[in-house]
Amino acid sequence: MSEQQPAAETTAPANFLRTIVADDLASGKHTTIVTRFPPEPNGYLHIGHAKSICLNFGLARDFGGRCHLRFDDTNPAKEEIEYAESIKDTVRWLGFDWGEHLYYASDYFEQLYLWAEQLISQGDAYVDDQTAEEMRATRGTLTEAGTESPYRNRSVEENLDLFRRMRGGEFPDGAKVLRARIDMASPNMNLRDPAMYRILHTPHPHAGDKWCIYPMYDYAHGQSDSIEGITHSICTLEFEDHKPLYEWFLDKLGIYRPRQYEFARLNLNYTVMSKRKLLQLVQDGDVAGWDDPRMPTLVGIRRRGYTPESVRTFCERIGVGRNDNWIDVGVLEECVRNDLNEKAPRAMAVLRPLKLVIEDYPGDRVEEFETANHPQKPEMGSRRVPFSRELYIEQDDFMEEPAKGFKRLSPGAEVRLRNAYIVQCTGVVKDAAGNVIEVRCSHDPGSHTGGPTADRKVKGVIHWVSARHAVQAEVRLYDRLFSDPNPDRGGQDYKSFLNPASLEVISDAQLERSLADAAPGSRFQFERQGYFCADEKDSAPGRPVFNRTVTLRDSWGAGK
Ligand code: ATP
Ligand code: MG
Repeated sequence: MSEQQPAAETTAPANFLRTIVADDLASGKHTTIVTRFPPEPNGYLHIGHAKSICLNFGLARDFGGRCHLRFDDTNPAKEEIEYAESIKDTVRWLGFDWGEHLYYASDYFEQLYLWAEQLISQGDAYVDDQTAEEMRATRGTLTEAGTESPYRNRSVEENLDLFRRMRGGEFPDGAKVLRARIDMASPNMNLRDPAMYRILHTPHPHAGDKWCIYPMYDYAHGQSDSIEGITHSICTLEFEDHKPLYEWFLDKLGIYRPRQYEFARLNLNYTVMSKRKLLQLVQDGDVAGWDDPRMPTLVGIRRRGYTPESVRTFCERIGVGRNDNWIDVGVLEECVRNDLNEKAPRAMAVLRPLKLVIEDYPGDRVEEFETANHPQKPEMGSRRVPFSRELYIEQDDFMEEPAKGFKRLSPGAEVRLRNAYIVQCTGVVKDAAGNVIEVRCSHDPGSHTGGPTADRKVKGVIHWVSARHAVQAEVRLYDRLFSDPNPDRGGQDYKSFLNPASLEVISDAQLERSLADAAPGSRFQFERQGYFCADEKDSAPGRPVFNRTVTLRDSWGAGK
């Protein structure tokens, strides 16, 4: 049994749930803790789910317990195997392992059905013939009691007969529901005879075509926790009002009752997280798919180039509490920036190329400069970067009429080419329209590393790529998908806040030679440009495609 989880890179900070678990173990209330992550397989996981995954699997890891992965698959209409597979893949990617504890609520359907019969026999559930609208209309409001259904006092025999016939397929969808018989006047709306089963003549992706009645989430969830011996059933705050119902079912059935605890869900600004809305973005073609690198889905975040460690660090940093709060998406970006600053090898890539010709450098000469892959980590090795007479530099590293304070290239000015020579601009070549299409320079031949004028100070340092050796590549620059901090606030269609500039595709970026065969998924810092990841799907050896994961906060060219 592999209940072992990878060791955390950082010690998880204290939170109220960790305190509860520690106390329960210390007092002997539990000897082993069992948590679960219970997604409904009706979409891809998003960054909010990561909070719940890290919390549940993290508690199990740190307290020597176990965490189950359970698919809460009670609604066959919206669920698909594709989603379930992706969820498993994503939990593993995040670094967690459920061992043999993979469960499906649908595997409990027979037991749940028998328990429903038990509740009917006890007089605690009844079959209601009212329509959905009638039930809604008689539910009452927060200030007014609901009205009891005319079917509420059916005999046990009649209820059992009808429920069995519901299962037998005698009635069409929506003709009847099984309801818990609790209290139509309860101040808690969830206790006003909530539905337990509905008729749905739809096969189930996991259970097959055995069923035409399906349990409601509230009826299935607590009993599933009970069957699995969950000790701490952790959910988001909106389920707090469901807790009395959760406990009512378990107590009426007389079965083991886990404790439910609630925590505040993750809210991220500039982001929508509802699965319905994310699905809509995919279906309407606003993004390229669930794994579009602009999506807050974990498959999207992964494709964007985020490391699992950075997502785990983020989840630890935001903490776990009971107060609703908003997290700035910048915190997530900072986590990946910090992680990649440590891990990503450096490389030079010119995104918007401008030709630079060194007039006093022979056309047939090539030098290779030994260049460290990471400025602080010699253990990451080095590579040889070719240098020749014709290079590419960034268009915005040259200004014919330099703005005040501009430290890079302009006519007459000197600049250091990163890891190579100091060059001085001697002139420009323009096209018919007057645009600069080429910068001409001379070089200081002693200014390379180890040369006599190596230490000569110039104001600016820019990156470059040898034209002859460069690899042309597609580079995708991603920005926030929404331009408003709270696109989901209501009152206005969230789609009206879509950022029209969230994707810029550059088709002719010029990369240094070493990037030609970058493995899909591999990550680099393109010096002065940010962190980039070779796209998992579209990048291929010799034909790299890079996604920008995140920009650099500081650029070494600016002042250092
Ligand atoms: P929907 O978007 O349809 O409301 P959901 O995101 O709640 O669905 P589930 O599959 O029910 O999707 O979620 C699985 C688990 O993830 C639940 O335990 C839920 O509490 C948790 N979860 C979902 N969203 C967040 C969030 N934003 N922050 C923390 N936990 C979350
Ligand atoms: Mg949910």
